[in-house]
Formats: sequence, structure tokens, C-alpha cells
Amino acid sequence: MLTAASTDNTGRQYLPQSPDVLSPNQALMPLSSTVNGQDHLVVGGCDVIELVKQYGSPLYILDEQTLRTTCRQYRDSFQKYYGGESLVIYASKAWSCMAICAIVDSEGLGFDVVSGGELYTTLKAGVSPQKIYFHGNNKSREELNFALDEGVTIIVDNFFELELLKGLTGDRQTTAKIILRLTPGIECHTHEYIRTGHLDSKFGFDPNQIEAAFELVSQAEFLNCIGLHAHIGSQIFEQQPHKDLGDVLAGWYKKAADYGLNPEILNLGGGLGIRYTESDDPPSIEAWSQNVAQSLEAACRSHGIPLPKLIVEPGRSLVGSACVTAYTVGSRKVVPEIRTYVSVDGGMSDNPRPITYQSLYRAVIANRLSAPCEETITVAGKHCESGDVVIKDAQLPMPQPGDILVVLATGAYNYSMASNYNRIGRPAAVLVNDGEAQLIIRRETLEDLVRQDCLPERLRQG
Ligand SMILES: *Cc1c(COP(=O)(O)O)cnc(C)c1O
Repeated sequence: MLTAASTDNTGRQYLPQSPDVLSPNQALMPLSSTVNGQDHLVVGGCDVIELVKQYGSPLYILDEQTLRTTCRQYRDSFQKYYGGESLVIYASKAWSCMAICAIVDSEGLGFDVVSGGELYTTLKAGVSPQKIYFHGNNKSREELNFALDEGVTIIVDNFFELELLKGLTGDRQTTAKIILRLTPGIECHTHEYIRTGHLDSKFGFDPNQIEAAFELVSQAEFLNCIGLHAHIGSQIFEQQPHKDLGDVLAGWYKKAADYGLNPEILNLGGGLGIRYTESDDPPSIEAWSQNVAQSLEAACRSHGIPLPKLIVEPGRSLVGSACVTAYTVGSRKVVPEIRTYVSVDGGMSDNPRPITYQSLYRAVIANRLSAPCEETITVAGKHCESGDVVIKDAQLPMPQPGDILVVLATGAYNYSMASNYNRIGRPAAVLVNDGEAQLIIRRETLEDLVRQDCLPERLRQG
């Protein structure tokens, strides 16, 4: 059984981590999770209850062991299964902060950034521009100039950007490395908002535009097309879409030669899913990587082209399972015959996924892990929105005020999509490993919340 934590038939909150959980994206809890003698959840050797005492709640707790294991599994799997050169790059939009960039960089991965802010964060963390790839369907002139100044590779999304870059590189008389993003026309079964490879998508060149893009690039003196890219969506459990994608990209790779282009890179994007609840059943990182690598090799053979450098860019599956969020339980409201709401001290401002994508999560009461799950309750956030629900119908022991409720698998698209809605400060994040905890993101203070406000003199009282 792969499950790290689950409500099994006996209604236990937590099942001890099996040593054979091989792939972090299949584990509900960070790999280092254990229970101590006080019946508390321990992550990275740190008692979660003590962490909340020290750093407050809500608190993002990031397990370094899980993050590094994930990076290594991706890197090693591509080395093992792909005959050509490969590079795994972290789609940093999943959680962009300097400490995570530094850890991922130290494991030898590259980076995908989608804004000047993510580019800046990555550079500040000490990442070499050679390992950074800049995405986005509407990069500004300032962002493109920033990317050109730093010499990062730019993933070009559309004709407007191609023309803009042609102009900017012409002014500078310096060559830019670009990769063209294609829309492969591949459907995958995931939420509509996180599907990107189908034809009705805002991203990339459509099949009927690609050759015109090749033509334009071949005419541009300072644009060097080093590769082709496609990304088909997120939280994907099927293997077939990436098989199909390898074939589509290999076909366009071959076609590019007709225009005198010789890209060396094929970038197949990210998208591997993770286990948020017991019912999620994603393939392992190794199985996913093997499928991508071998499908691309087969596609290259059938198109008669040499093996390109293969890039993949996982985001969610790289950080998602490495983090949990600890909340403190507060008020309760019983709606007779309907449901019991238990509120925590955060919600949609630190995790907007439930309200945005109807995402499901799993939680445990971290200060009494052996208590049986005998209630069905709805964990509500503290924001002024009825939809601000962290988990609907969670199976838990009845949460009591002061309990520490820990939501699992919150590493991806939580902090990065966090807001200050209701002027609630964003939580702190700590990195845990070997019994030590270190702050990687400071909690926002009240002063932080008004820092950008300007009060014109004439509006000042007194
Ligand atoms: C979001 C994104 C990714 C990462 O997707 P995950 O599902 O988080 O792995 C990779 N590439 C591009 C272009 C993206 O937009």
C-alpha cells in the first residue's frame, strides 16, 4: 500500500508511512512524516505543534527531504530512460521563493519562469541564467528586455511576441535564444482552467500557424530557434496524452528543418498529478518519466530524426507533496441535520485552490493523531465568502478549539496564489529537515499590509 496517511477502513487518521512509498507524488504526507510519543505529527524531525507555537499559524511546513527526493527521482529517471541529453526544469510558478529555487538548483534542475517577478526571484537565489526558460503569453517589453539583458532562453508564445523580439534584438544587434510554444491539439482529462494543450487555448501557436512562425524566425537575423515546446495541462493521471505529444512535437521538429531551422530541444512541459486524497491515483515519477522518454524515442525513430535534448517542466508534482499547512481550529457552527462547520484561522487567502478549482484536500488533527475519524465536518476558512471552504465533508475526529488541523499536499499553487483578501497577512513558511526548522518566508505583519498604501496629504485627518 502506497498510502502515507489515509482514513483506512478502521477510520484511523494516520497510517504510518510505508517504507516502500517510492514516489513522493503518490504519498499523501511528506516522506519524513512520523508520530511522536505525544501523538503529534512530526515532519522533518520537527513536532508540528511546537512549530506552530514558535512560528504561529497558519504555517506552511516544507519538508526538504521530500523536495530533494522528488528532484532526484525526476533527474535520475530521465537519465535512466532517455538515450539523449535531458534536463528537468522546475515550473517555479507552483511555488516561487528563493529558498525553494536554491534547493532545486542545488539538485541540478533548471527553471521555468513566467514573469519578471519569477525571473528576478530565481536570479536572486543564485540560479545561472543559462538554466532559466522564460514563458508567458503576454510578456511585457520590460520583461523581455530583462530576459535579454540576462541572456535567458525565451519561450515565444505568439506572433505579437515574435515581432516584438525581432525588434528588440534588432535594436541590440544581439542574438536571442528562443523556443517556440506550440498548441498540439491534445485533450486531457483535467479541470477546464488547467487544460492548455487543446485547440481552444490562449497559449501557443496553433498547428495552422506554426509554419508561418518558422518562416518568420528563419528570416529574423537575431532570433535563434533552439527548440520547440508544448504543455498540455496539469494534475494529469493518464499517460496517453504525453505519448501523443512526443509524436506531435517530433513531427514539427522534423518540419522545422524545411525552414532551415535546427532546434536541438524538445520540451514536453509538465502536468504529472499528485495524490491530494485517497482517491487520487497518479503514476509514479519514474513511470511518468519512463513513458515520456520512451515515447519520445519511439516518435523520433518513426520520424527518422536524431534524439533531441529532452526538457520537461514539472511544477505541481515537484513541490506539491512536500508541504503541509497547519491551522488552528476556532469556532464551530452546527446546522442541525445539514452539516457542522469548523473554522480555521486561514482559508482562501493562503489556499485559493478549493474556491477556484473545487479542489479536494485531506487533513489530520496533528495534536491527536490516533483519535479515530468519527465525524463528517466541513472545514471552513475565515474569509467573508460562503465559498471559503477548505474541505467539504472531511472525515476527522471532532475538531476542538485550539486543535492544530493540518491540510496535506499544499506545496503547489497555494503560497504562489495566496492573496491578502480581507487584509489577512500571508502566512510564514518554514523549511524542516533533520529536526531543524528554518524560516524561508516571513509572516506578513499589519505593517506589511499597509506598506504599499498611499494616503494623499489632503485626506489626512488632523
Ligand atoms: C504550469 C506549467 C507547467 C507546470 O505544470 P504542472 O502541472 O504544475 O506540472 C509547465 N509548463 C508550463 C508552460 C506551464 O504553464
